Amino acid sequence: MIYKRSSALFDEAKKYIPGGVNSPVRAFNAVGGDPIFVKKAAGAYLHDEDGNQLIDYISSWGPMILGHAHPKVVDAVIEKTKDGTSYGIPTELETKIAKLAIDMVPGIDKIRFVNSGTEACMSAVRLARGYTRKDKIIKFAGCYHGHSDSFLIQAGSGGATFGEPNSPGVTKGTAKDTLLAHYNNLDSVKSLIQKHKGEIACIIIEPVAGNMGCILPNDGFLEDLRSLCDEHNILLVFDEVMTGFRLAPGGVQERLGVLADIVTFGKVVGGGLPVGAFAGKAEIMNHLAPDGPVYQAGTLSGNPLAMAAGYTMLKELNENRSIFESLDKKTAYLHKGMKKVLDDAGVVHQINRIGSMISIHFCEEPVVDFKTAAKGNNDKFKTYFHGMLDRGVYMPPSAFESYFLNDALSYEDIDHTIKSLSEFVDKLK
Ligand SMILES: *Cc1c(COP(=O)(O)O)cnc(C)c1O
Repeated sequence: MIYKRSSALFDEAKKYIPGGVNSPVRAFNAVGGDPIFVKKAAGAYLHDEDGNQLIDYISSWGPMILGHAHPKVVDAVIEKTKDGTSYGIPTELETKIAKLAIDMVPGIDKIRFVNSGTEACMSAVRLARGYTRKDKIIKFAGCYHGHSDSFLIQAGSGGATFGEPNSPGVTKGTAKDTLLAHYNNLDSVKSLIQKHKGEIACIIIEPVAGNMGCILPNDGFLEDLRSLCDEHNILLVFDEVMTGFRLAPGGVQERLGVLADIVTFGKVVGGGLPVGAFAGKAEIMNHLAPDGPVYQAGTLSGNPLAMAAGYTMLKELNENRSIFESLDKKTAYLHKGMKKVLDDAGVVHQINRIGSMISIHFCEEPVVDFKTAAKGNNDKFKTYFHGMLDRGVYMPPSAFESYFLNDALSYEDIDHTIKSLSEFVDKLK
């Protein structure tokens, strides 16, 4: 396939936008080459500026779970637009989507809408700190909770238990309040709790991780975190920005049966418009302004277009719950097909999957945390990514991202994907 116009547009974009993109992963730095520029999308396909049609396994990083330009979502937004696009005043629609989300998700009484997953996680942590009156938080290496300062932290050197900034601009002062544990390693959490007794406000985790590839929690890991939190008066925050309304109507909490104290959402909840949300028991949520002292606000929060898209999306998922099963089956079919091609060719690999999230890692050891994910062979990943792209299959341009299937994908699309892999699999040996 030819990507000439995309490359020209990228060159032009770089003159005016840092790196030519408004979010770094889009620049293809991890895989090389120029990003494609999208002209439009429909169902399972992206149509780029060169006239290529690509099968999309990213689904806008999750939101387009029903496929692109779903007619009901598109119509809802168009209709709403005619009544004005923002008021900064309450609307009934905000209550309707709140009620629906609370019906679908276990264990939450109240929900506040914001404009992104970043905002949701940042606000959830502030609420946890305000509620517990404690300062420190525990996060897991490789989990992503948006780009706010408290989360841009890497492991500290030597024996330090607190993290260090992993971006210039994040202060040491902020970094010292974020403690880093290792995914699927309960001892790493326990030792942080021991060393910082009485100081930890919350543990925040992707209950199924999707930002170091797809990584599942080991059996009992989430349950053990839940017990530790109860024992030490720490709030458990599930970042379900990726998994919420995707792995089940009620997200990981429903699918794996463990409840958090605060849950964050983004991606699917906005139906493709900029929306995030955080939710919890009334006891905790009532600490937010204007009822309580913890400040949080937003000019465009609860925006009518965003709420119309999100409400239509959630309603569609709630009323057609077979979508989740259908997505699971399609993803299992992809998993089986890719595994067979790779196994037959003798390519060393790992495939992790749950529901409609899946990722491939070119390494020998099981991928269970950031360290094992980082052992993947990136040269092979690049070959894999470009081999797919050349055949019209658009996979995430980084080995540290999960794929997000959408229900518009057909079995023919998946067969094409598997066949594409078989055409160049020998290069992956
Ligand atoms: C995408 C993502 C975020 C950040 O959401 P944005 O809308 O990009 O700000 C936070 N947490 C997780 C788990 C995510 O996948």
